[in-house]
Amino acid sequence: MMRQYELVERVTSYAPDADEALLNRAYVYAMKAHGSQTRASGDPYFSHPLEVAAVLTDLKLDDATIVAALLHDTIEDTETTREEIDRLFGPEIGELVDGLTKIKKLDLVSKKAEQAENLRKFMLAISKDVRVLLVKLADRLHNMRTLDYVPERKRKRIAEETMDIYAPLAGRMGIQWMRDELEELSFRQLNHQAYEMISSRLGMMRTVNQKAIDEIEEALGGQLAERGIEATVMGREKRAYSIWRKMERKSVSFEQLSDIIGFRVIVGSIEDCYRTLGIIHTTWRSVPGRYKDYISNPKQNDYRSLHTTVIGPRHRRVELQIRTREMHDIAEYGIAAHALYKDSGVNGAGRGAGNGDGRKAIESGAYRWLRRVVEMVSEGNTPEEFLEHTKLELFHDQVFCFTPKGRLIALPRGANAIDFAYAVHTDIGNTAIGCKVNGRLEPLISELHNGDEVEILVSRAQTPSAAWESIAVTGKARSAIRRATRAASRQQYAGLGRQIVSRAFERAGKPYSDERLAAVLPRLAQPSVEDALAAIGRGDLPSRDVLKALYPDYKEERQQRSAPSRKEEGWFGIRRAMGLKFRDPAGADGGKDAIPIRGIRGDLPVRFAKSGGAVPGDRIVGILTPGEGITIYPIHSPELKTFDDYPERWLDVRWDIDEENPERFPAQILVRAINEPGTLAQIAQVIGENGANIENIQMIGRTPDFHEMTIELEVWDLKHLNTIISLLKATKVVSSVTRING
Ligand code: MN
Repeated sequence: MMRQYELVERVTSYAPDADEALLNRAYVYAMKAHGSQTRASGDPYFSHPLEVAAVLTDLKLDDATIVAALLHDTIEDTETTREEIDRLFGPEIGELVDGLTKIKKLDLVSKKAEQAENLRKFMLAISKDVRVLLVKLADRLHNMRTLDYVPERKRKRIAEETMDIYAPLAGRMGIQWMRDELEELSFRQLNHQAYEMISSRLGMMRTVNQKAIDEIEEALGGQLAERGIEATVMGREKRAYSIWRKMERKSVSFEQLSDIIGFRVIVGSIEDCYRTLGIIHTTWRSVPGRYKDYISNPKQNDYRSLHTTVIGPRHRRVELQIRTREMHDIAEYGIAAHALYKDSGVNGAGRGAGNGDGRKAIESGAYRWLRRVVEMVSEGNTPEEFLEHTKLELFHDQVFCFTPKGRLIALPRGANAIDFAYAVHTDIGNTAIGCKVNGRLEPLISELHNGDEVEILVSRAQTPSAAWESIAVTGKARSAIRRATRAASRQQYAGLGRQIVSRAFERAGKPYSDERLAAVLPRLAQPSVEDALAAIGRGDLPSRDVLKALYPDYKEERQQRSAPSRKEEGWFGIRRAMGLKFRDPAGADGGKDAIPIRGIRGDLPVRFAKSGGAVPGDRIVGILTPGEGITIYPIHSPELKTFDDYPERWLDVRWDIDEENPERFPAQILVRAINEPGTLAQIAQVIGENGANIENIQMIGRTPDFHEMTIELEVWDLKHLNTIISLLKATKVVSSVTRING
């Protein structure tokens, strides 16, 4: 723990006029007031206000701020009263401590509508005197540094509040190092896995990185010295959170993130900043689009620097910030560096103080912002309006949306309703089917805007679409979607695998059960029954391997394909060539031990051969493709020839249509029609009036007398298709119609 004289020495080192007696009194008073109280860590409670004071000495703040830091928890947590503080330390400090006490209990990420009111109170308290905010930020920083001692259920909430409110506020005040540290500490709590993953990777690369940093420091330092520019070059490894953000924002993996080291070059003058930039750009190739001039165009919080990225030694991307010492101080200490807190109009901000009384006219951007917020509050806007304005201002890289119950959901800019759903709860995301934005039905991919109220519509039967993974913006949504789609497809493959393996056993005259399969898992190199079944369903594990593992002396008979396809192909071929209507002599049922196929919306992972166009009623066959599962072909598809040499990949399948939820299937027809105006319209009319969808029409031949075209359409089943073909044939302008089967 810091000793009394050490604290005083720290303050007088940068503020020789500081009131030492006042500091001493406050130290002793706070220590006594907290007495034997302890923190969650077991440390004496007083260590906390003392650490907070120490952080503020790093920011070189005035004695009153340091004293307020020492006393900040006394009114709330001890017998001390406001009057007592006023009497012992004066009303200025009394006011500061009072402000800190007022905001202590405000829950800024509360789930209810009171959040707006709380944030309003918070803004009012901090904007009376910006020093209240600085003490509060230091207080939160120390609490975050010691958060591991706090019970787990509280931790997440504190970290959330820090990430959502305090870190952006520190950034707004221009105190970059504090923002970075607050974000890093919150990130570690909120996404522990990601934090650990990135940190350990950084750890592994540290030696390599350090080498690269040294090398570049030396090369750059040498270049600048040669041209007579005095510069300090500082290399640093980026923080886990900033790497994570980049991975999220750009959807890249850690491996693709080459620029995990950055450099700061601090020079003597603005002119030297630009000269340095010139030298860097002539030494290394610059990365287009990465140069930013925040010297001519400072950020709102007064941040100034030149930013650029170059391809450095060994083809590494290197990020550089070039600035003067003064710019550097402002970047690190922000509002505190302006020495504005002492004798400017900050105290009177809420009262809209004029500057006629000789106060410093210089205002930092951070202070201007704070004053605007206060003006807004005193103009008496409704809490909701206030929240909207403040949040827009405060978090310009985020959007804030609400659930119908008023819970606030913060999302990165560009996020959509899918991200929102997953931010509310993973289950909501996984079962989302649509959404209402401000009461209107919108697609889930709609980008959200500040203040949107979003209601997610869910259905239990839903599983997330794999395509969402690339549509979602947040890492949370993306990884949840990946998990869910993987689990769903694995389940589907396992279901198919069970059908395949049990039928294979039946054919071999052997009984199948999961227990038997479980017994041979090691021999099949499969971790679980579900994995083994999924591998069978995916076509990666042939079912005869399972049979052989269980019955080593099982002899595979030459697999008897029930495939009438080859035998009958000639017949079908002739019929087709003659343009005769296809009629299945054996009926649509491929046998009772065939695998039931419901369509693409069923439980099995099936796909339909693109050129095949099988519709219910067609006799079909399944082809198992390793890694992909099962593809359905009409039995007379010429493409099936390709699989003649792989009898083990053929599966008996049959239609199993869900009458309750009919599904349309794609089919193709070849139509020859008379070339005269209105022909196409007549054809389209016949198809449309009979309840089929036209997906595509392609003209393939045109003579003065005839049109020839292929039409892709969607039909319910073979009967439906045949009806349409018959009706088309009956149309006067049509001379022939043929179904195309691949
Ligand atoms: Mn505290």
